[in-house]
Amino acid sequence: MKELEQKILDEGIVLGEDILKVDSFLNQQIDVELISKMGEEFAEHFKDQNIDKVFTVESSGIAPALATAKNLGVKCVFGRKKQSLTTSEDVYHSSVFSFTKQVMNELIVNKEFIKEGENVLMIDDFLANGQAAKGMIAIIRQAGANPVGCGIVIEKSFSNGRSIVEDMGVEVYSLARIAKLEEDNIVFEEN
Ligand code: 5GP
Repeated sequence: MKELEQKILDEGIVLGEDILKVDSFLNQQIDVELISKMGEEFAEHFKDQNIDKVFTVESSGIAPALATAKNLGVKCVFGRKKQSLTTSEDVYHSSVFSFTKQVMNELIVNKEFIKEGENVLMIDDFLANGQAAKGMIAIIRQAGANPVGCGIVIEKSFSNGRSIVEDMGVEVYSLARIAKLEEDNIVFEEN
């Protein structure tokens, strides 16, 4: 998605060796127009997969997941990152290593919201080492539902996340794929 690549070049900030900060349009302030276009793009790509539900992880996956769910005409569910007082006992959970925070988080979803046999499309903001996606796939499979695809806004293709997700039998579709991430030098994969 050319518009997204240009936005990353204009507003992305590279932190350290491998973190891209995109707080100005995705991770804190949200560019609603751009997110809407992302939703259209994901929905167009996955429209023939009979998606029943869009699933993401709080908090940065929610905006693109919501836009995608709206275009597909389905509900959007987000996993919570730790047990909260309002979460019932009746939950699916899996452990996820957080790339940005370097800690283990528990990913939790109420059993009510993902049902056996449903076709579930995962959406997330970034794909790095595939841990968030792996945690989502684990939850979908615990529910007896089908992970039918993984839509990613920004894939860091120099990391191994794509092969981890594909090895679990799930297609990955990314809107921007970063091959190289250096200060003042962000290089995208050729389409
Ligand atoms: P993974 O689980 O694939 O290793 O990492 C993906 C998760 O880590 C995403 O949900 C995202 O929140 C976070 N993440 C990974 N890399 C980056 C990055 O470069 N920038 C930001 N903002 N988040 C990242």
